[in-house]
Amino acid sequence: MNLVLFGPPGSGKGTQSERVVKQYSLTHISTGDALRTAIRNKTAVGLKAREVIERGELVSDELVTEMLREIIRPLRDTTDSFLFDGYPRTTPQVEQLANLCEEFSLSHPAVINLHVPEETLILRLTGRRICADCKATYNIYFKPTRQAGVCDECSGPLTKRVDDNPETTRERLRVYHEQSAPVLRIYGEQGVLYTIDATGSTDDVAKKISRIIEENY
Ligand code: ADP
Ligand code: ZN
Repeated sequence: MNLVLFGPPGSGKGTQSERVVKQYSLTHISTGDALRTAIRNKTAVGLKAREVIERGELVSDELVTEMLREIIRPLRDTTDSFLFDGYPRTTPQVEQLANLCEEFSLSHPAVINLHVPEETLILRLTGRRICADCKATYNIYFKPTRQAGVCDECSGPLTKRVDDNPETTRERLRVYHEQSAPVLRIYGEQGVLYTIDATGSTDDVAKKISRIIEENY
């Protein structure tokens, strides 16, 4: 089984992905995480992607798809079940993913769309904080730490993602509506799209995702 977890920035793709991959033994591929790692390691991809991401724009389809191909290639020897998180994010990427599935003999993915209203997305993104040491995530509005700025788990310092500031957040949501939302129409027409309300608790959303997977696979 292959899955795409789709949704606007702040819809909880990352959090849900981590749970789903454990429960169903899928291999998690997050293009956002892969790009952030590339930026940290100053690879050729990272150098091209850094400023684009800081502006809240999308990295080019060619760059992301090529990166994805090189992530899948070595993993494909040991698995045929992936969860794609953050890809496809444009209509050309839908076709590119279909091509990659052919190339690597993977079944075509089902798509789960996490729906969250805009006002909630803005609070989730601008309020998001991440522990610099253990990567635990918090939110100053919805899930504050006991002591401001200090991780509950490991007492590490909290940081923000560079693209979680208010201006970049607005730009990311604009880009989502313009370039990513059209992806839903294509998957809807293919009959592989499942949209769920992702405003509830992490557990509620996880249950909805499990239900879809178990009813269909
Ligand atoms: P978000 O929380 O905004 O969904 P991600 O961690 O998935 O964030 O991605 C962060 C940034 O990485 C995006 O705003 C975009 O610039 C870039 N990116 C990630 N995936 C893709 C993709 N499939 N195509 C183009 N750019 C991407
Ligand atoms: Zn921590």
